[in-house]
Amino acid sequence: MRTHCLKFLAFATLFSVAASLSAQQPAAPKHEDTEVYEPVPPVVTPGASNAAPPSDAIVLFDGKNLDEWVSAQDKSPAKWAVADGVMTVSKVPGVGNIETKRSFKDYQLHVEWKIPTNITGSDQARGNSGVFLASTGPKDAGYELQVLDSYNNKTYVNGQAGSIYKQAIPLANPNRKPGEWQSYDVVWTAPRFNDDGSVKTPAYVTVFFNGIVVQNHFELKGETLYVGKPVYKKYDTAPIKLQAHGDHSEPISFRNIWVRELH
Ligand code: MG
Repeated sequence: MRTHCLKFLAFATLFSVAASLSAQQPAAPKHEDTEVYEPVPPVVTPGASNAAPPSDAIVLFDGKNLDEWVSAQDKSPAKWAVADGVMTVSKVPGVGNIETKRSFKDYQLHVEWKIPTNITGSDQARGNSGVFLASTGPKDAGYELQVLDSYNNKTYVNGQAGSIYKQAIPLANPNRKPGEWQSYDVVWTAPRFNDDGSVKTPAYVTVFFNGIVVQNHFELKGETLYVGKPVYKKYDTAPIKLQAHGDHSEPISFRNIWVRELH
């Protein structure tokens, strides 16, 4: 009898160990395990072309007025000329750069620009303007995506059209001739800062120039400076700024500017 009992106990113990081992075995993977249903991406209606603003874009310039823009110097109304659906950099001394009234963090931006047909000059003095992806002060403070006539115009390659000024050489030169409209499509990831002003995560930028990728998730080293090494300055959100460089023979024009904030 005692032997039977022991046998039964041994069997029961083995059975329970086996059962608990089998309970610990991970279940076989199922296709549902890797399928998520939340959050649902918002519905966005695309524009009629890739250049037209989609349904959730903030239109910064639709050819009618500069209501979304102010002087970068003193925040007074922007004084660039608007005619025939186009804004043109002012040649009037002192008018200077303009920037958006709104401030942004991470975004997708579309902007079109044109070098005048009768442009003259060379190097950096030939159709120089710029899109500051974050304006951190008046004048040229911030992060500049260069605008320049680089169709047939030699300059330092980290300062040609499509460059992140003095930081990133464009991966290609898809410039059109002066007189033709060109486009930038930008994905900007703003830098993040710690409370003490040190960099938590750097800025990144991807740029399509006339549909060609010229910057591919480039990690910025700081603000784009004319003289000296790039350095970061703490900010949270910032306007987008257009440059009145002032040293070209004929002014640069812009049109069709819109932005989609990324959250
Ligand atoms: Mg410039």
